Amino acid sequence: MDSDHASSPPAAADGAASADRLVSVLLPLPLAGAYDYRAPADMRLQPGDFVIVPLGRREAVGVVWGEGTGEVAPEKLKDVIERLDAPPLPETVRRFVDWVSAYSLAPPGAVLRMAMSVSAALEEPRQLQAYRRRRGATASVKMTPARTRVLALLADGPPRLLPEIAREAGVGTGVVRGLVEAGLIEPVLLPPPPPYAEPDWQRAGPALEPAQAVAAASLAETVRKGGFATLLLDGVTGSGKTEVYFEAIAAALAEGRQVLVLLPEIALSPQWLQRFERRFGVRPAEWHSDLRSSERRTAWRAVAEGKARLVVGARSALFLPFPELGLIVVDEEHESAFKQEDGVVYQARDMAVVRGHLSGFPVLLVSATPSLETVQNVEAGRYRALHLPERHGGAALPRIEAVDLRKDKPPRQSWLSGTLRDALAETLAAGEQALLFLNRRGYAPLTLCRSCGHRLQCPNCSAWLVEHRYRGRLQCHHCGYAASLPPSCPACAAEQSFAACGPGVERLAEEVAALYPAARTALMTSDTVMGPLAAEAIVEAVARHEIDLLIGTQIVAKGHHFPMLTLVGVVDADLGLAGGDLRAAERTYQLLHQVAGRAGREERPGRVLLQTYDPANPVMQALIAGDRDRFLAEEAEDRRRAAMPPFGRLAALIVSGSDADAVDGLAAELARRAPQGEGVEVLGPAPAPMALLRGRHRRRFLLKCRRDRQPQPLIREWLRPVRLRGDLRLQIDIDPYSFY
Ligand code: ADP
Ligand code: ZN
Repeated sequence: MDSDHASSPPAAADGAASADRLVSVLLPLPLAGAYDYRAPADMRLQPGDFVIVPLGRREAVGVVWGEGTGEVAPEKLKDVIERLDAPPLPETVRRFVDWVSAYSLAPPGAVLRMAMSVSAALEEPRQLQAYRRRRGATASVKMTPARTRVLALLADGPPRLLPEIAREAGVGTGVVRGLVEAGLIEPVLLPPPPPYAEPDWQRAGPALEPAQAVAAASLAETVRKGGFATLLLDGVTGSGKTEVYFEAIAAALAEGRQVLVLLPEIALSPQWLQRFERRFGVRPAEWHSDLRSSERRTAWRAVAEGKARLVVGARSALFLPFPELGLIVVDEEHESAFKQEDGVVYQARDMAVVRGHLSGFPVLLVSATPSLETVQNVEAGRYRALHLPERHGGAALPRIEAVDLRKDKPPRQSWLSGTLRDALAETLAAGEQALLFLNRRGYAPLTLCRSCGHRLQCPNCSAWLVEHRYRGRLQCHHCGYAASLPPSCPACAAEQSFAACGPGVERLAEEVAALYPAARTALMTSDTVMGPLAAEAIVEAVARHEIDLLIGTQIVAKGHHFPMLTLVGVVDADLGLAGGDLRAAERTYQLLHQVAGRAGREERPGRVLLQTYDPANPVMQALIAGDRDRFLAEEAEDRRRAAMPPFGRLAALIVSGSDADAVDGLAAELARRAPQGEGVEVLGPAPAPMALLRGRHRRRFLLKCRRDRQPQPLIREWLRPVRLRGDLRLQIDIDPYSFY
């Protein structure tokens, strides 16, 4: 682009002359694409520059995406108002935004919005006011001891901030101001200090065991060599995967590259951050939904300026504007939390691989229970696997047994079988710790009327209300609707007739308290534990053995290391298997494997009891036999036969709206025009399992394609003529992970 071009006459400009100074600017808004603007003659603009442009009667911040198209009529063209003094959005990030947009079928501006989620970060960082001695000034005021101390402090040191002077000289801030007025010291502006210290990659980690050392050396070598590669670090829980990938991180930092570690949000615990700090001497920059906006601003800016070398974040960290990224680690790569379900729908693990491919650096996936997709990619030779087959320090893997609930029935209105009760009693008597796992929040998943069988349902969703007894509320876990228990049944008017049906963790805690009154128990769920600090407090209490028995939902399954925990009881191992989810078996296996991995992590052996009505189920059998690979092979075979992912491609289309007839009307129109052809199949429209969600009616289509056909062009063509009226919405989900 030639910004030195002489200014051309306004309206009558001939195309060639004015096109020279056109830029296309992408705005972080869900619009169709980039728009042309005119660059004023004195403004030098490069692709990636952040600019302010007029948008209707407002102003908006956008990014120069490239040369203008010349498609906008000259009289409609508007000038770029200002170029912001922020590091430009790197080219690879812009290509990534385009790529994600094309793949997910989300407008590019919606993807860009994720890459510039904090517009305040584009402002120049505020400078700090400091004070120094004024050279050559002589005292024209009376020197008090306080004033003398301040002048002595500032005599030869660097400029200091006001609170610092007050503290170190032991004076009030008024003394400092008095000295400024007297002309003895003067204010200066300082740039803000770097927000993150440099990680020290030269610090030694622990001495690695032979298998760990082999994997670490191979990873470090790949990182040093640079270039795109996807690797899988596949190792049982406790095998030292984290220690090993720290070596890969150290290698990338040594090469002067930035590093991103992606974790499922709930795994980003203070415990984990401390571990990081022990290894690299500093805390990494964090990126997750709990950050305050000032923290987001600092982190975003530091990443963009290359001052944050090491970032740990949830999936959205993938869109941070790293200029020098050299490695992405995706820990717990199998976790479905990497799939973003609202707004721009994307799978962060897969997009991390795309990011590495576009920029030419390695991506490391880490898991004890890798996803079928990843395992398949390893088998096809696209990814390279490194294995850590044993637990560190010779700790044995826990013994896993099924408890057949058909034979070993818990007493009425209780949920623990005789076998599990005995095991708990033994464990507590031995002074060891136990974990009871039940992936159900609240007291009871269903509340029904004893007289007429009426079930309490959410008015906005196809879902039962869940009783939360601690809060004294009934809650919908989908929309947040809450009510108190009605005094009489709305259907039959019977009074005080409601009964809780089935267990949630709160109810389980009640049973445990009755059975083991002396045990110190704690309940850990996202409702009972408010925020990461509270979670940390419980985790530390367990680690210090101030808790004997921990009860929890899946938030206890992740990553924690409790040396004295030797028994894990899975109260309802069948829970995740119901329903039409393609990955139900795979996910149940992963989750239960992970929970089981909490037991016996040090010298005391661990034991895991799975309460199930279906001990012959392949998931239970694989867990008991410790035969993950056979399970994956069988699961792969099932999917291959059904031509389901990863052997075929899926995309979901969800039509929703508050008016059921309008939703059905649009669904019928889409059904008439559904894509056809070889290797293409459209299922639906069908009411979604959650046919009503947050007050919106929902109908689903599933587009199933052979692996060699891409769903995106089909969908684009399919939806081209669709105009959405009223509050109708169409959500596209490429590679769906949820089927509700
Ligand atoms: P994973 O990530 O595979 O579950 P971790 O890396 O968390 O395993 O290791 C489990 C525990 O063993 C951690 O406390 C870790 O510090 C320790 N550990 C692993 N490898 C070593 C080693 N070579 N030397 C000392 N401690 C180790
Ligand atoms: Zn609801």
